[in-house]
Amino acid sequence: MSLRILHSLPDGLLSCTPATLKNVLSDGSLICLKGDRPAPLFLSCLLHGNETSSFYAVIKLLQNVSRLPRSLMIFFGNVTAASQALRQMPNGPDFNRIWAGGMTQEERMASEVLDFARGQELWASIDMHNNTGDNPYYACINKRDHPTLGLASLFSDKMLFFEEPRQTQSIAFSKFCTSVTLECGKSGDQLGVTLLVHYLEKVLTLESLEEINLSGDKVSAFQTVSRILLPPSLEVDFAFNDSSSSQLSFLPELESYNFQVIKKGTFLAKLPGPFSTECHLQVLDNSGGDLTNKYFRRRQNNLVVENDFIPAMLTKDVRVAKDDCLGYILQKLSNGKS
Ligand SMILES: [Zn+2]
Repeated sequence: MSLRILHSLPDGLLSCTPATLKNVLSDGSLICLKGDRPAPLFLSCLLHGNETSSFYAVIKLLQNVSRLPRSLMIFFGNVTAASQALRQMPNGPDFNRIWAGGMTQEERMASEVLDFARGQELWASIDMHNNTGDNPYYACINKRDHPTLGLASLFSDKMLFFEEPRQTQSIAFSKFCTSVTLECGKSGDQLGVTLLVHYLEKVLTLESLEEINLSGDKVSAFQTVSRILLPPSLEVDFAFNDSSSSQLSFLPELESYNFQVIKKGTFLAKLPGPFSTECHLQVLDNSGGDLTNKYFRRRQNNLVVENDFIPAMLTKDVRVAKDDCLGYILQKLSNGKS
């Protein structure tokens, strides 16, 4: 695999679906289009093959605009995984973990993209993703300077600051241009696609990111401080049922708490089965410290919240919850800058 650069839209692209895109483009394809302002906007699509909002929004954008107000570089990542509606290929890498160097063919391709992009005096980079659980639309940022906060704030007033994992596209690009990641709801969420198209159209017309007004309380920036983990062998459901055969039976509306405060005293799950003091889930901070007792307590057969907290990316997808985590616990950064 090596980077393939095109200087016009390939025939048939605008009528593709994620499933048929592989007939037109290979993994790691970069389309460079000239616009009125020469410094390009870089758009990153389908790094995760089953997160299709980026694809649909970019196709719609290209259908809508007849003349580009700014040059565009559009990168299509894991086209093969997209053709099979998979996040990544079995035994293949996560295309959003290949951007910090390395010798695999995908890492070398990503380095080629970075080398090429660095030579183009990029104006900004936008990587687009979807969540598995219900979340509000939000932006992820790796810097808290005015251009980054401005570019993110046009998409959402909710922002998540992160420095790990450092192998992501947005962190690699943030070293030489303004860079954000957008989380556009669940894959295929029509409202998310529409919002994204309007956002991209607006960003394309901007002359400068410094001109974006950040006054007032337009920005709520958070960072993740802990993860909520489930043991792989645990039986879990979302029926909030005392007599469930599962060991943890969460509230059905669990995902509605994303980016909301969960108050101390909230009954988050039922713990059926014989009495014990065991909470079953575990909270670990970024350095592996156990904070379970800070956030949760078992009160008879209920899992009770012990201190107010704001979660994000809570998911009812049990496979994701066990492979990665049930969700993250956030800390608010003051004024978005702290
Ligand atoms: Zn993703």
